[in-house]
Amino acid sequence: MYKDKINLLGTDIKRGEHVTLEMEIAKLHNRSSVKIPIIIERSKKDGPVVLFMAGVHGDEINGVEIVRRIIKEKINKTAMGTVICIPVFNVFGFLNLSREFPDGRDLNRVFPGSANGSLASQFAHQFMKSIVPIVDYVFDYHTGGAARVNASQIRCDISDEKSIELAKAFGADFIVNSKSIPKSIRYTLKKHNISALLYEGGMAKNFDEHIIQSGFDGAKNVLRFLKMRTGPKATDNKSVLVKKSKWIRAPYSGMFHVKIKNGQWITKKTVLGIITDPYAEFEKKIVAPIDCYVFCVNNFPIVNRGDAIFHVSLEAE
Ligand SMILES: [Zn+2]
Repeated sequence: MYKDKINLLGTDIKRGEHVTLEMEIAKLHNRSSVKIPIIIERSKKDGPVVLFMAGVHGDEINGVEIVRRIIKEKINKTAMGTVICIPVFNVFGFLNLSREFPDGRDLNRVFPGSANGSLASQFAHQFMKSIVPIVDYVFDYHTGGAARVNASQIRCDISDEKSIELAKAFGADFIVNSKSIPKSIRYTLKKHNISALLYEGGMAKNFDEHIIQSGFDGAKNVLRFLKMRTGPKATDNKSVLVKKSKWIRAPYSGMFHVKIKNGQWITKKTVLGIITDPYAEFEKKIVAPIDCYVFCVNNFPIVNRGDAIFHVSLEAE
């Protein structure tokens, strides 16, 4: 139910109010406080509470830029409901350009956290306690980890009707069926009956304009789908639905050259990449085992046998 005032981190926010709050998440070893800004826009009219967040992995900055644009272009000022934006979730990782928290934990594997756990776990706990109880929908922006480049995609459990409807409305290039991982944000929110979609696009420590635009258009489209925004769709993109997928792994160790464009339909036996040694003695082609979409490519030039190098569809429509 849409309340006349919501209380967030000890502050009352009334209908029609705009507030930027700072959530204190820790004290550093020099006693400085670490705070993350949370931008809240409440419409006067009843509607859902939507959270856009990015930077759970601190080096995934495409998402940070997407949420910045949502604020800059005032997409968070909606005709009804409330929009909460957290552009930089894991501020420690953002400062260090690292995926993890300073305690070495992956924040996305410690949910729901605990008050007396590791630093990452305390943070997860505070988020669950102070923000999650008031939200209805969460859109969490990520990129591929390390040197993996993701095509624009929503990851969700396609057997969940609410998620698949939202994912289709978002309009990314792909919707990839994926079960959520225990202790991840998505897994934990689902237990609280909150629809959470994960957007993946591009790679860590990089800006990719197509990925940013696709994530930004998706935000506008889902707000329109939830009737919080009027006007035409930002994009009419029909997502390719990947029901089943698999990783193609490097059959050899060596230097790896990618020969295809990410996000494309590839026919069986197309050369996906080449693995060589440094001495011009060894050169092997990696060919597509089936007709498939490729929606994630490892961009790192050195591979070991068994490294995941292409994520491809087994069943798509
Ligand atoms: Zn991530």
